[in-house]
Amino acid sequence: MALRVNDILEALPQATILIDADGAVEGFSPAAARLFPFLKIDQPLSFALRNPELLDTVALTLADGKTRQLEILDRLPVERFFAVDVARAGDSGTLVVFDDRSAGRHLERMRVDFIANASHELRTPLASLMGFVETLKGPARNDVKARDHFLGIMEAQSKRMARLIDDLLSLSHIELNAHVRPREIVDIIGVILQIVDALKPLAKERGLEITPVFTASTLMVIGDRDELLRIFENLIENAIKYGGSGGSIEVGAAVYENNQMRAWVSDKGPGIAPEHIPRLTERFYRVDVAASRDAGGTGLGLAIVKHIVARHRGKLDIDSKVGKGSCFTVSLEQASDVT
Ligand code: ADP
Repeated sequence: MALRVNDILEALPQATILIDADGAVEGFSPAAARLFPFLKIDQPLSFALRNPELLDTVALTLADGKTRQLEILDRLPVERFFAVDVARAGDSGTLVVFDDRSAGRHLERMRVDFIANASHELRTPLASLMGFVETLKGPARNDVKARDHFLGIMEAQSKRMARLIDDLLSLSHIELNAHVRPREIVDIIGVILQIVDALKPLAKERGLEITPVFTASTLMVIGDRDELLRIFENLIENAIKYGGSGGSIEVGAAVYENNQMRAWVSDKGPGIAPEHIPRLTERFYRVDVAASRDAGGTGLGLAIVKHIVARHRGKLDIDSKVGKGSCFTVSLEQASDVT
């Protein structure tokens, strides 16, 4: 049995519309029906579809039979981007095929935004460094006191740039390995205690105490030890930076249903308003940019945590109440359950 045009349209994955010589709709694929709910057989295309550029292109191809391509951006109800092919079909019909490129365009925009943000973040300390170099070469050349002061600031700014570059490199390294599951067997309690020891002096400086709470002496997970260290380094450092002064920070780990384990870092700081919470793991997102910079933040810490947790097929939960404090919980599979 010969295939009919409608059978072919029915099977096409792309949104596709067939138009007859008079510009009326002759058939369409299910994807086209979803995309343009007002499409109706025998009615003009313009009843269902409003984009003037596309309608003009279809009219041109109907008239001269030439194949044309165009790109259209549909903003409602959500932004979508299509590459559209308009081609002669049969003697006098026209076929319009929509290729949804929204995902690629979204990724492309994220990449462009990321480069713009990273450049901006690097340019700010660089501009300050260049300013001080100028001052030291000129007006402050022989002023010993001013020189020491400026050199101190320059050192801090260079360290900030170095931290930013380290974080950017970590992120790209983690992303490169995103699909390779970690294989080491690691004691998560050992990992957390190593970071607690390293950060105790910083906590003390801020008048904070770190209290570890563990229900066992070891807790094994399959993971990448260096990456797991980064998770708790970032979370505990954040608790110290943003956790308010004089309070205490609790870090813990415990087994939790079905061979899962949870590790958490909680503080009694000012907390985070609910509208910010879903965005905290975005690169360069900060609740308060100045506070983050003053604390030596790069805005990449939680993005790094999120990527590491994702590579470990784990979960990151952020629970916070304004005025009460925040708790960051990482859930991972226990080693015994991983094959
Ligand atoms: P940063 O380098 O700015 O610390 P992060 O990605 O680690 O970047 O964190 C993003 C933002 O999340 C911070 O700038 C801060 O506004 C907020 N934040 C992170 N941890 C906490 C916390 N424990 N308490 C309050 N706010 C926090």
